[in-house]
Amino acid sequence: MSIEQNIDNLRPPAIVKNPEERMKFLVEKSKNVVVEHSFPIRLYFSSGRQLLQMANTYLDEKNMEQAFVLYMRYITLFVEKLPLHPQYHEIDETDKRSVRAKLKPLFGLAEEIKIRIRNKYKEEYENYLTQKKIYDEKLAEAQKALIEQRQKAQQNLEDKKMQEYVNNLQSQIDKKKRELVDKKDEHLKEETVDVNEMSSDEESLSTSIDQPTKTEIHKRPVIDRSTKPSMSLLDDVDRDTLRSMIVPFQDLTKKFVKIAQPNTDRNVETCGILCGQLKRDSFTITHILIPKQSGTSDSCTSINEEELLIEQEKHNLITMGWIHTHPTQRSFLSSIDLHTHALYQKMLPEAIAIVVAPTTSEIQMYSLTDHGLEFILKCREKGFHPHANEQNLYHSSDHTIIDDKLNVDVVDLR
Ligand SMILES: [Zn+2]
Ligand SMILES: [Zn+2]
Repeated sequence: MSIEQNIDNLRPPAIVKNPEERMKFLVEKSKNVVVEHSFPIRLYFSSGRQLLQMANTYLDEKNMEQAFVLYMRYITLFVEKLPLHPQYHEIDETDKRSVRAKLKPLFGLAEEIKIRIRNKYKEEYENYLTQKKIYDEKLAEAQKALIEQRQKAQQNLEDKKMQEYVNNLQSQIDKKKRELVDKKDEHLKEETVDVNEMSSDEESLSTSIDQPTKTEIHKRPVIDRSTKPSMSLLDDVDRDTLRSMIVPFQDLTKKFVKIAQPNTDRNVETCGILCGQLKRDSFTITHILIPKQSGTSDSCTSINEEELLIEQEKHNLITMGWIHTHPTQRSFLSSIDLHTHALYQKMLPEAIAIVVAPTTSEIQMYSLTDHGLEFILKCREKGFHPHANEQNLYHSSDHTIIDDKLNVDVVDLR
């Protein structure tokens, strides 16, 4: 392998930022809790419950950064933010007590996790510095070898020219000797003249040697890879894409269509809550909870959400969205559906809305766009109402993965 290839093959280690900087980033991220006082406080209580559940999962899976961020957000939410919410006094004392009991061990736990993360960061940073040192040394070595090789090549060239020059000189001397033999009576003065000629030869030779390829040594730029963004561990926490949502589509829709059939026959909507588990940083829908509800031909409202919460706690389930039928219409999100879904998606950015249209057999999974979520959460209209640019508000979910090897459990609470 040539030295040039050697340099090309050297790969610098992925950049790891220093532990203080990474910790600072994580702590700032964990404080990022915004409570809008216009949202009902019960939404934040459900959200908080999910936060804690997800934090526990991340801790079990040793995803310390995520666990830390979520525990800290839970603490911030209930200690700092929610007591300022205008509806805080409406919360039952039992619910507040239950939250306080959950909070108690979290301070120590979060601190413990923080220490573990800091130690891990330190270790990773030291490891990085070692790798970087090895890389820098290897690079310097390879560059030195390259320079030496070029110098050697240059030396060879000089040697060759010198040899030619000597040969040339020798042949001229030989020639001169022969002439001397031929012209015995000639004076030696002639030789002096020839030596002068030779020295002018030497000058031209030295200029041509001075030229060589010195500039070539610097021709290959040394690429500074330190400016390239790193794929460090931080990317796990600094998420800007949604986690995947695994949907047992066939089983889920088949079971839901069946359970909705009596309502569908009467032209009444049916709704269900999609629940499941977080596992290795992605969600899987495992349950449909059918709450007590009142439906019409174009709407469906769940009643007694307490019962729903108890059921979710029992199975340790996270709310991942909802499903409902459009008995006579096609599959789409009505303006009321958009408002309902905005709250689900606000709680969990990955939440989806499945709309089943039995008459056309059309079943779609929807998510609000970022713009749509913001827009709908600001919209104060009630009941059915038009929205400007409706088609930009939602789209087919693109973070869902259909897995028809999986099944769901249906829990009918009616
Ligand atoms: Zn609908
Ligand atoms: Zn609206």
